Amino acid sequence: MGKFISLSIPNFEGNERKYVDDAIDQGWVSTGGAYITKFEQELAKFLHVENVAACQSGTSALHLSLVEAGVRPGDVVLVPPLTFIAAVNPVKYQFATPVFVDCDDSFCMNPLKLKSFCEEECEWDGGVLKFNGAAVKALVVVHVFGNMADMEAIMEIAEKYNLKVIEDATEALGTKYTEGKYKNKNAGTIGHFGAFSFNGNKIITTGGGGAIIANDPKVTDHIRFLSTQAKTDPHYYIHDEIGYNYRMTNLQAALGVAQMEELPEFIRRKQKNYELYKKLFEDFEYGSLMPFRDGTDSNKWFYSINIDRSCISASMKDIIIALHKKKIETRAIWGLINEQKPYESAVTYKLEKAPYYANRILNIPSSTQITEDEIKYVADEVKHLLRSLANG
Ligand SMILES: *Cc1c(COP(=O)(O)O)cnc(C)c1O
Repeated sequence: MGKFISLSIPNFEGNERKYVDDAIDQGWVSTGGAYITKFEQELAKFLHVENVAACQSGTSALHLSLVEAGVRPGDVVLVPPLTFIAAVNPVKYQFATPVFVDCDDSFCMNPLKLKSFCEEECEWDGGVLKFNGAAVKALVVVHVFGNMADMEAIMEIAEKYNLKVIEDATEALGTKYTEGKYKNKNAGTIGHFGAFSFNGNKIITTGGGGAIIANDPKVTDHIRFLSTQAKTDPHYYIHDEIGYNYRMTNLQAALGVAQMEELPEFIRRKQKNYELYKKLFEDFEYGSLMPFRDGTDSNKWFYSINIDRSCISASMKDIIIALHKKKIETRAIWGLINEQKPYESAVTYKLEKAPYYANRILNIPSSTQITEDEIKYVADEVKHLLRSLANG
């Protein structure tokens, strides 16, 4: 293999340059312009929702969702320990308190543990759920790697305890249920809020960017209002609320409109490449390719090898470095958020699966440009390396 095989790089095979040039030619490069509206409309159409607010990043999408959910200083928000830290940091921006609830085998929030946390650790007065005297206001569910959390179970618990559900559907753009109560519903359209990021490594990118959906289209309008400094009257500079500079720019949106044209093809390739990896890892002794949740049609954004730790004790770092020498970029799943410095003293609830997977999951190349030969090469080299490390 001559070429370095990247983990997850953007793909600009479509109209990206044409639309960005057009935005520049028109002089609309900032937070006004037709591409922003067009991008919002295309995303709304794709997700079968009425209203989408485009914003500056996934992080800002999550922050505005928490603001709109009414999360205030001192409130408790239930969060996942095994995901990208951007899903949790906005809880701190609101001076609220994150409590970490374990994941299940999809890496997403474990509904059984969520339920037992609410039942056994909290007090319920019929209106507000309280943990150590603080109101539990919301939970952030991340649909990890293209998976979908068990939303039916999670929504049932949230409805019972008046919790606002914020879905971080960044990694699951295009993933939907194929059966059950939420059949044909897309990730990000089931909870009270859905947040997306379009950073460079996501399935589509706007360079940097994000989007928010609220289950009430009027709330989405209000989020858009907050994202542009809450201009009650834009001509006379009247502001009745605290706003943010969180709006997507027209340049980003121009890129996004082109990417939306290609999204179905990107998903098709991700799904096809996953099937090939699956075949190649089928009978492998020292690791397996993680499946996606039954009853969903996943975008299969990111691929995870579950390394058999009963035979292989080598550190993730050594594995990643060895594969890098073979011109293959891999990465470890995230470090647990509750173990990061700012969260060391946070409350955790029955973390078992999260630390288990944190030490086992290796992500392998998943870019949409990857060729069949490259996939075969990656599988061969990963298997060869893990075999050589087994029982060593
Ligand atoms: C990338 C990512 C984010 C962060 O989005 P930004 O646009 O980088 O702020 C948040 N949540 C998840 C699950 C992500 O993968």
